[in-house]
Amino acid sequence: MAFGLNVLFTLLEIAGGLYTNSVAILSDALHDAGDCLSLGLAWRLQKLSGKQADAKFTYGYQRFSNLGALITGLVLIVGLGFVAVSAVSRLRNPAEVNAHGMVVFAVVGVLMNGFAAWKLHGGHSMNERVATWHLLEDTLGWIAVLVGGIVMSVWDLPIIDPLLAILISLFVLYNVFRNLKQVVLVFLQIAPAELEADALQSKLLALPGVVAAHHTHAWTLDGESHVVTTHVVLNAASTRADILRVKQGVHDLLAEHDVAHVAIDVELEGEACPCGD
Ligand SMILES: [Zn+2]
Ligand SMILES: [Zn+2]
Ligand SMILES: [Zn+2]
Repeated sequence: MAFGLNVLFTLLEIAGGLYTNSVAILSDALHDAGDCLSLGLAWRLQKLSGKQADAKFTYGYQRFSNLGALITGLVLIVGLGFVAVSAVSRLRNPAEVNAHGMVVFAVVGVLMNGFAAWKLHGGHSMNERVATWHLLEDTLGWIAVLVGGIVMSVWDLPIIDPLLAILISLFVLYNVFRNLKQVVLVFLQIAPAELEADALQSKLLALPGVVAAHHTHAWTLDGESHVVTTHVVLNAASTRADILRVKQGVHDLLAEHDVAHVAIDVELEGEACPCGD
């Protein structure tokens, strides 16, 4: 439903941008096309990412939702490149735009995005809050187009249109890079903030019975469920009960931090680490 409306509105915007000859509207349309793509991919990949692990993807499919964000980001960058090129050439020789048409489209844009933001606001889930913010940003973009359209219908200043387009594109680009950075860092196996090595290591060492820990690694599947592997060294005289207690301690500690996959290697003091540490 929301997706269909988005697609419809984006097509309307592209038509509006071409009709009014406004690159500012086209850059807003591109932004919304990116939103559609990310919604569509998220929707499609969400199903996939909920799939249980199988023989080929032993961790499950959570990372497929990151893939959607990556694709959307790259597509948006290419699209923004096109808008930027045409906006810059318009700066050199400004083209006449249909300012009244721009105002009409901008009013529709402000109303639609504003209405959607108003309907969503007050939602409590992380997703709803992010979506509300996003809609407010979209509304701001349309307000900028509206103001530009009004100015251009009073004064003959066609240069405002490409200037607006560049401004909107820079703003979208900033957000794209911010999101892409998160996604790429996950693919690069950065440790989740709460599980950075030093902090994790000292929490492990604080567990009763743990003499040392090494080969401690933490990464995240999708930013929400994490993986930790570690070697813990116990006193050489540890009994079966001691070992079980330490293992349970590590599992309890990591369960507090959304670690979905834990691998613990238990070594006794004096034992050579098979990995050479
Ligand atoms: Zn948007
Ligand atoms: Zn290691
Ligand atoms: Zn080891």
